[in-house]
Amino acid sequence: MASTDPFGNATKQLNDACDILGIADEGLRQYLAIPNKILRVKIPVRMDDGSIRVFTGFRSQHNNDRGPYKGGIRYFNPEGGPEYMEREVMALSAWMTWKTAIADVPLGGGKGGVYVNPKTEGLSDGEMERLTRRFAFMISEILGPQKDIPAPDVYTTGREMAQIMDVYGKLNNMTSQPGVITGKPLEIGGSKARNVATGLGTAYCVREAAKKLDMNLKGAKVVLQGFGNASTFAGEYLEGMGCTIIGASDSKGNILSPNGMKMSDLEAWKRENGTVAGFPGSEATDVPGLLDAECDVLIPGALENQIDAPMAENIRCRIIGEAANGPTLPEADPILYEKGVTVIPDILANAGGVTISYYEWVQNNMGHYWSFDEVASKMEDHLVRGFDSTYQMSQEKDVDMRRAAMAVAVQRVVDAFMIKGMWP
Ligand code: NAD
Repeated sequence: MASTDPFGNATKQLNDACDILGIADEGLRQYLAIPNKILRVKIPVRMDDGSIRVFTGFRSQHNNDRGPYKGGIRYFNPEGGPEYMEREVMALSAWMTWKTAIADVPLGGGKGGVYVNPKTEGLSDGEMERLTRRFAFMISEILGPQKDIPAPDVYTTGREMAQIMDVYGKLNNMTSQPGVITGKPLEIGGSKARNVATGLGTAYCVREAAKKLDMNLKGAKVVLQGFGNASTFAGEYLEGMGCTIIGASDSKGNILSPNGMKMSDLEAWKRENGTVAGFPGSEATDVPGLLDAECDVLIPGALENQIDAPMAENIRCRIIGEAANGPTLPEADPILYEKGVTVIPDILANAGGVTISYYEWVQNNMGHYWSFDEVASKMEDHLVRGFDSTYQMSQEKDVDMRRAAMAVAVQRVVDAFMIKGMWP
């Protein structure tokens, strides 16, 4: 079951980290693996045609030893149905615990979701709003600015965050509660730099890796898989550091242009044509052609499960910055490590998003708001420190960066748990 059960995979990664750290205590391993609480709720919604439809939603609160639970809410319908989704949400909540720990923000890990695909099922705005507000109502008892702070995820946006905030505030004596959720529009307490945070954080991590490898980023060739929020901003900032973008893709095509493409031109082309495909001067390729193109930096920034063992054998880059969650399969990691490819794992490479979410929450709690540069430079400090701790652990224990990042994160959570002790 472990290969298809996301929670089994998350637990295996945790056990690997415990092995590295010499944590033999089975009870402590169980404590770290199992979510503190999983709430499963029924969400009845009046549809536009007058019928009632019942949806299923979840919130998994994995660990709060370092601070309030933190993690997104996704609207999705994975194959395997709601039972699978519950396991997925549990796994994702655990990964949030490790991500907030590696970024060293004082938050824990949580994740939520509703089993629905708003795109393929064509839910109207009204149906989406009634679904969101009822879901928020059903989980409101476990939310709170000091308890559990959700954020956007797959198919949820600032609009849903605003509705959840509104429900929570009304349920709590009509008070203003911006700190109960992040990823809000700027007009209601969102943070500057949140839109670019994930890609910018990836670029900072790539820069740090390049320093360790003594690699000059000026003229370094970069391939971007995906051309959405995470990968586009990673591309923009890497270009700003001197890199040349030679490959890109989206759901409609993969392109290579060995002489380089300007990000602003590529973005303008995508805006006009709805895809990067057909960009003047580029040649079309396929997914393997893109991922194993000769380059210095590969940014898998779209989907999970992209780099398997055969792909890892063929890859010809020096650094992989995982802007996406889970793009590399476990069997590919040892191959990449043997080849000397530095993989910056997702929990570190895309932690810029949750780090600026943390600063959104801080600003909400203070009622005072910072400039773009102030927020971005605070995030940079977290990711540089996260990178350094991970690199140091990887050198000390002679393990790849993914296992090292997990080990650093697990140690931080164990330390917090031990300091507090157990009560009752
Ligand atoms: P997005 O929807 O903005 O972009 C996704 C991109 O992937 C789109 O350009 C889409 O066309 C492309 N895509 C879809 N199918 C593809 C395919 N088969 N081949 C190539 N490209 C394909 O999403 P995003 O927010 O950028 O998220 C991308 C990844 O980054 C996800 O794994 C997400 O979990 C992760 N991530 C994002 C954030 C964030 O703040 N946005 C934070 C942490 C992690």
